[in-house]
Amino acid sequence: MVVELISVGTELLLGNIVNTNAAYLAEKCAGLGLSCYYQTVVGDNSGRLAGTIRTALERADLVIMTGGLGPTQDDLTKETAAGVWNRQLAMDPHSLERIETYFRERGLEMTENNKKQALVPEGAIVVDNDNGTAPGIIMEKEGKRMILLPGPPNELKPMFENSIAPFLTGLENPDAPGIIFSKTVKICGMGESKVESQITDLEALANPTVAPYAKTGEVHLRVTARAEDEKEAKKLVKPVVKELKSRFGSAVYTTEEDVTLEKAVVDLLLANELTVSTIESCTGGMLAARLINIPGVSEVFKTGYITYSNKAKRKIAGVKKGTLDKFGAVSPQTAKEMARGTALLTKADVTFSITGIAGPDGGTAEKPVGLIYMGCYVCGTTNVKEFHFSGNRAKIRETAVSAALTMMRQCILEYYSQKTFGKKV
Ligand code: ATP
Repeated sequence: MVVELISVGTELLLGNIVNTNAAYLAEKCAGLGLSCYYQTVVGDNSGRLAGTIRTALERADLVIMTGGLGPTQDDLTKETAAGVWNRQLAMDPHSLERIETYFRERGLEMTENNKKQALVPEGAIVVDNDNGTAPGIIMEKEGKRMILLPGPPNELKPMFENSIAPFLTGLENPDAPGIIFSKTVKICGMGESKVESQITDLEALANPTVAPYAKTGEVHLRVTARAEDEKEAKKLVKPVVKELKSRFGSAVYTTEEDVTLEKAVVDLLLANELTVSTIESCTGGMLAARLINIPGVSEVFKTGYITYSNKAKRKIAGVKKGTLDKFGAVSPQTAKEMARGTALLTKADVTFSITGIAGPDGGTAEKPVGLIYMGCYVCGTTNVKEFHFSGNRAKIRETAVSAALTMMRQCILEYYSQKTFGKKV
């Protein structure tokens, strides 16, 4: 089945909001095995939207639209989509009752135009919205379908997960009651193209499918199987996950849905009873913050310093004046001294330092914006690495923190792999 996505909203066109719905839906559709060749963004203009819908219906079996289902005059997705297929809108008593209940339960006054949200095109399937007022709409005509979903992501996502994905699965596989089961293999420290080059054979599989998703500093491989029941689906997924684990080795940090990279690092520290302290310059505490997001980290996290100035690097971590004068604050020598100094000071088993140039100013030909050095001390041994990140200041800092978590994990694993004793997870 070929799907096409249309995101409706002038604020998207103006760049006032980022089109996260399209990214979300594209990822979900790929996970369901649907092919998507086009995505369009169109403003709140009935004529242009109608034209966009007609074009999409020529190219795809299914057109999914988000946004423009609200109560105001410029919310015209439903009216326009119904118009394309010459359908009238009629009041849906079930949706009206749900909207009235929504307002009553919140002690809010329902205005006349809220009733507009309960109007649905004739013959449409109505999808309840548990988190807002605009119901979703599914329309069918001669083998083609349009699905209209609300714009707010907190309404769209649960509606898609709970109602639209099962509906689409049923369409794809009409004879099998079928369920979909997926497992995600999460990889850190490798770029998307490198990961993809190692799974081209697996990407060609039909059931289960293997789909890569690039995240900041990580790549997730979603293995999805369709089967009669969960047991069967798990049986299909298991050998492929095993194969991926063997291909990517220790770069796989988890296959659990709720385990993030920082959680994997904290689990590693906890399992080995290692305490940790951080010392950050250009990331300003973001590494500490990500670690501290994880409940239970208090068992292992000792101290987090932000030493932005040279003076602070000297005063807190004991970085030598000579090192700063000779090599500069952004240098492997400084990163090393920051990590070692923090270990001395806090007596932590693991310490991590970050020093670099996040930009946009401050770069030179020799030390450009995006150059970052990181140091990781693990029980007496300090490793230093040089990184080059691109993007704006925020992107550089965010990517640096993901790289830091990956490096900390690698250094701990390496430390234990060089010993014949000790635990690791
Ligand atoms: P409402 O019932 O709240 O009016 P709606 O279906 O009419 O919802 P819009 O009015 O188009 O949706 O958008 C409402 C809000 O939803 C936007 O201000 C924005 O915050 C969010 N939103 C809409 N479209 C997108 C999108 N494509 N990506 C991310 N967020 C979006």
